[in-house]
Amino acid sequence: MSTPSRTTDSADSRGHVGRHAISIRNLKKSFGSNEVLKDISLDIDQGEVVCVIGPSGSGKSTLLRCVNLLEQPTSGQIFVGDDEITDPDVDIDGVRRRIGMVFQSFNLFPHLTVLDNLTVAQTKVLRRSKSKAREAARHNLERVGMTHKESAFPAQLSGGQQQRVAIARSLSMDPELMLFDEPTSALDPELVGEVLAVMKSLAAEGMTMMIVTHEMAFAREVANRVVFMDGGFVVEQGPAAEVIGDPQEVRTKSFLHRVL
Ligand code: ADP
Ligand code: MG
Repeated sequence: MSTPSRTTDSADSRGHVGRHAISIRNLKKSFGSNEVLKDISLDIDQGEVVCVIGPSGSGKSTLLRCVNLLEQPTSGQIFVGDDEITDPDVDIDGVRRRIGMVFQSFNLFPHLTVLDNLTVAQTKVLRRSKSKAREAARHNLERVGMTHKESAFPAQLSGGQQQRVAIARSLSMDPELMLFDEPTSALDPELVGEVLAVMKSLAAEGMTMMIVTHEMAFAREVANRVVFMDGGFVVEQGPAAEVIGDPQEVRTKSFLHRVL
């Protein structure tokens, strides 16, 4: 799993153990004079599920966006597998191909069917044949329980169904790891559970995931580790039961008091 231009047939390499999927070293990110990330260092192992929690404005989205190179870090290093993605010569598209990202807004193409939403990037970016792309699409629709809706258009689906399709679309690119930025925050409360269930099953399959969420019960149940951020710093991290159940830092305690 060494080159940025990984092909689809190496996508099962998450079985590798003892290797960091992501290493973040002294990451800083400023917007003008506003330093939003202040020296973040974090390692995430293959197959690990890390939930990032913290107040609004603490830098959670910026951290995920730096990992996907949607933001250019101001300083520091980020490695995906063995590859430094903060290297100025890095192939940015190649890096993004290795990392799935799911946002609060599902961003499906409204004029395409569910199936076409899943095949378009596969054929254009991965240059898969139409039939291979459909095969992968159908496999991933099955993973998220959306097989029965392959001919539907996004507007015909509930928010929870749209988000499950967005997850399947990401999975169809065979990412090494998945980033989720508040994937259930835009959903009506009764639709949150079906999306969390899909994420839980991905976790059980061994997918490496970094998840920004306010769903504390989900974090407690599924995360191997919880990272609490505030003011651009990682204030506290550890097993979910410890960070959420028995926080040590004042800022963690006061945040949890507000959200629990
Ligand atoms: P969180 O996801 O924890 O709510 P964000 O990472 O979205 O926090 O934002 C952290 C800070 O960075 C905020 O003060 C926000 O205004 C600022 N910020 C985020 N993105 C940009 C941007 N593109 N330009 C300027 N400031 C930004
Ligand atoms: Mg955010």
